[in-house]
Amino acid sequence: MNVNKSRVLIIYTGGTIGMKPDPETGALAPFDFSGIYEEFPSLSHLEADLEVHTMDPVIDSSNVTPENWVTLAEILAENYDRYDGFVVLHGTDTMSYTASALSFMLENLAKPVVFTGSQIPIGVLRTDGRENLVTAIEIAAARTSGRPSVPEVSLYFQNRLFRANRTVKQSSEELSAFTSMNYPPLAEVGVNITYHKEHILPLPVETAPLRVAKTLIDSILIIKLFPGLNERMLRAMLSAPGLKGVVLETYGAGNAPTSEWFIHALEEAIERGVIILNVTQCQSGTVSMDLYETGLRLERAGVVSGRDMTCEAAVAKLMYVLGIGQPSLLETPLRGEFSV
Ligand code: ASP
Repeated sequence: MNVNKSRVLIIYTGGTIGMKPDPETGALAPFDFSGIYEEFPSLSHLEADLEVHTMDPVIDSSNVTPENWVTLAEILAENYDRYDGFVVLHGTDTMSYTASALSFMLENLAKPVVFTGSQIPIGVLRTDGRENLVTAIEIAAARTSGRPSVPEVSLYFQNRLFRANRTVKQSSEELSAFTSMNYPPLAEVGVNITYHKEHILPLPVETAPLRVAKTLIDSILIIKLFPGLNERMLRAMLSAPGLKGVVLETYGAGNAPTSEWFIHALEEAIERGVIILNVTQCQSGTVSMDLYETGLRLERAGVVSGRDMTCEAAVAKLMYVLGIGQPSLLETPLRGEFSV
């Protein structure tokens, strides 16, 4: 081990990036990342010593649950002191949810946790996974003046590094699968990696030990408005037993119908203690409930503004703040998840 090299732990959770065609059958089978140096000998030229932890079992990310997030956070915490940075290989389908959740659960994080994956399996010649993996490792290992260059949960894909809790999966086909419409990239990759320091979360002045929030309350729903959502259906959702919170996907700048039945249904849920968090269905822009009467009615009913948070970040943050018993934190930016 070279003491000057950063130590990076790669955690493989599953997804397309870990697939390779079986030489005999041609069918895609999981790639064994523990043999990473044999497969990609050039990785030994990186300024990083690598170790691999493969989750058991590896899963397609469509099967991810909050329990998986807790397991992943625990693995990161157990290895936190032994490594300088972490790369999490994850299926692209729910990567933004997992990465958003981890951004909240890893309290006092002061090291890089870089999520990545691929659209084409790593064992296929034209894969995008090799570049995503190599650059994610470089970013996890990078130091500026001896300190980690990106000490937050980020997501690297196709030449751009994003704050993870600002991302959404935008395409099931394009290699540029992720976007961050409301926050600029933390780094851009061409011949060099250009870090945009002004967009990266600063290291905490006093380093407190990493803490993992392990309780996530998943008794929540996403309710997406559409013309035709009727009272019977809305009330059925809002009266789900044990419901604790709702991410309400509204129109435009946070607008919703002003019909009395609609507002009353929300007010009654709020009176029962259900938290309703308003995010917009638009890809970019923010909720401003004081712009139109249609938003003001929601504000008066006690709906909380999710500002310019993605739906993915809103789901993760709602589970997290309910878990730590501090729903009022929804209005405070905790990890740069909304713009102020
Ligand atoms: N279904 C896969 C997953 O999310 C897709 C991918 O990895 O891109 O696990």
